[in-house]
Formats: sequence, structure tokens, C-alpha cells
Amino acid sequence: MKLSLIVPCFNEAENVAPFQTAVRSAFQDCGYDYEIIYVDDGSSDATLHNLKKLYAAGECPMKIISFSRNFGKEAGLYAGLQHADGEYISLIDADLQQRPEIVREMVNILNSQPQYDIVAAYQDRRGESKALSFFKKSFYRIINKMSTVKLHPDASDFRTFRRSVRDSILELAEYHRFSKGIFAWVGYDTCYIPYTACERNAGTTKWNFRKLLNYAIEGIIGYSTAPLRLATYLGGCTALAAVIYLIVVLLRTLIHGIDVPGYASIIVLILFFAAIQLICIGIIGEYVGRTFEQSKDRPIYIAKEVLDNTKK
Ligand code: UDP
Ligand code: MG
Repeated sequence: MKLSLIVPCFNEAENVAPFQTAVRSAFQDCGYDYEIIYVDDGSSDATLHNLKKLYAAGECPMKIISFSRNFGKEAGLYAGLQHADGEYISLIDADLQQRPEIVREMVNILNSQPQYDIVAAYQDRRGESKALSFFKKSFYRIINKMSTVKLHPDASDFRTFRRSVRDSILELAEYHRFSKGIFAWVGYDTCYIPYTACERNAGTTKWNFRKLLNYAIEGIIGYSTAPLRLATYLGGCTALAAVIYLIVVLLRTLIHGIDVPGYASIIVLILFFAAIQLICIGIIGEYVGRTFEQSKDRPIYIAKEVLDNTKK
């Protein structure tokens, strides 16, 4: 039995060595083989340099895939999956927020409970602000209402799964990747276990509110066409309102005669309808843009170098 640990790294120079130490101590005498697949996602610091030092030291089986630029964590996970050849595959961050000991527990669950194909960890407590947690909750409520796939709130991409799941995920070679949605879409029986995220070992998170908002929009657009339907409804409702207003204006003109002042109401109406049209064009644009990106059929990532000491 072999476990492949996929570790996306973007500017994690200070973290890769402690991470490897933590993995080695968590998996010593585990009774099975493992390999660490580091994906350097175009880091601008010494991440790749430090990874190569670990590679040269050769303390454990490892692969390094280094990207030609920053392609994002999702692309990193995809590259890692392509290079993983273990029976079990695990996705884990490089910053030690997710303890490697939990991966061992996940493997134990997969070993002892054959009915499960995936063991996913979800964060049981978050040290985050009220505003952010409200925003996240609303996101899950909206996306679970709108789309056919159901996302587990709080579930992260910290998970371990069987090879069959990996093969299914690789079949979804879409350019805009939203891993929470991809996992929900491929299905399989998932066992959810709680975990508490630790403090980052070093460095800072790559997420901010703007990125989270874009990520949320990515998820909704990628897994639902409900916004398009919403545009149709919005158009229908405003058309109805316009007809009602037309009747009111006509009646008023017939009863009270022509009433010239009305500058303010006309301006408000013009602005209102222009805004609705722009919103609808924006929604359509989101989908057209994604179709455009996908139709170019560009690769999800470009690897400039791959190192592998697992094959003798
Ligand atoms: N990451 C990546 N590419 C990116 C951003 C992040 O490979 O463009 C990696 C990062 O190095 C880390 C993991 O994804 O191993 C999670 O990132 P981070 O810790 O910033 O996210 P958080 O834990 O705050 O959700
Ligand atoms: Mg982190």
C-alpha cells in the first residue's frame, strides 16, 4: 500500500522543511509506503530552492513539480493528482495548519471502513471574524439552493481518498477549477471528520476578502445556471412593473390631462432599467467568459521542471 501526499506550495519557503519533518515523524512506523508530491506554484521566494535541498537530502520518497508561474492552488492540486501513483491520495497544505497525524487517521478509516471512498476533514471551530463566518454561511446556503451538487459547509480540500476518486477527478479537466464543487460533483461515499486548524507555521495566508468573494462567484457560476434564470425573472418582473406604470401614467393623463413636470421620475426610470440591463449582461458575461476560456483549451498549468526520486 502506498500513500501519495499532494502539497501545493506558494511562497512557503519557511514551511517546507518543518512540514517534511512533521510528515516523517507522523508516518514513521506506519507500516506502508508514502511519497510527498510538492507542487511549487510559481513561488517568488526560496520555496523551490528549499524543496531542492530536501530533494538532495533524499530523506523520503518525493516528487517536485515546479510551475512556470503562479497558476493557483487548484491547478497545483490537479498537477499533483496527475503525478500521484499511490493507492491512497491525500491533499494537504504546506503551512502545517493541517496536521499530518490527521492524514494517518484518515488512512486508518479508509482501511477499516471499505464503504467509504473519501475521508474529508471539516473545520469544527473557526477563529475568524463574525462578518467572514456570516459571509461563508450565506455562500453555502445560496450555492446549495441554486446548484444540483450539495456542498458540505466548512469542508475543506483537506482529504484523503482512493485511487478511483483521483481518476474521476482527473477526468474533469475544466479550466476554471473549484475543488469543493468538483468533489461534490464526482460523488462517492464520503466520511466527514472534524478537525481544528492550527496556526500557520510561518508566512501569511494568500486569501483576502476580495479573493474569497471571487472564489464564491466562481463556485456559483461554475455549478449552477440559476443566475441566468434569475436574469430572466428580473427581466419579467421589471417588464410587468413597466406595464403597470404605463397604465397608471395613461390613466393619469386621461383624467388630469398632460402633466409636463416629470423630469425626476424619467431619470430614475432610465437609471433603473439601465442598471437592470447591465446586471443581466454581467451575468451572461460571466458564463460567456468561461465558455471563451474553456474553448481556448489551454493547459491547466505548465510545469517547467519535474523531479522524482520514487522510481529506482
Ligand atoms: N497555495 C498555492 N497557490 C496559490 C495560493 C496558495 O499553491 O496561489 C497553497 C499554499 O502554499 C498553501 C495552500 O495552498 O499550502 C493553502 O493556502 P493558504 O494557507 O494561503 O490558505 P488558507 O489556509 O488560509 O485557507
Ligand atoms: Mg493555510
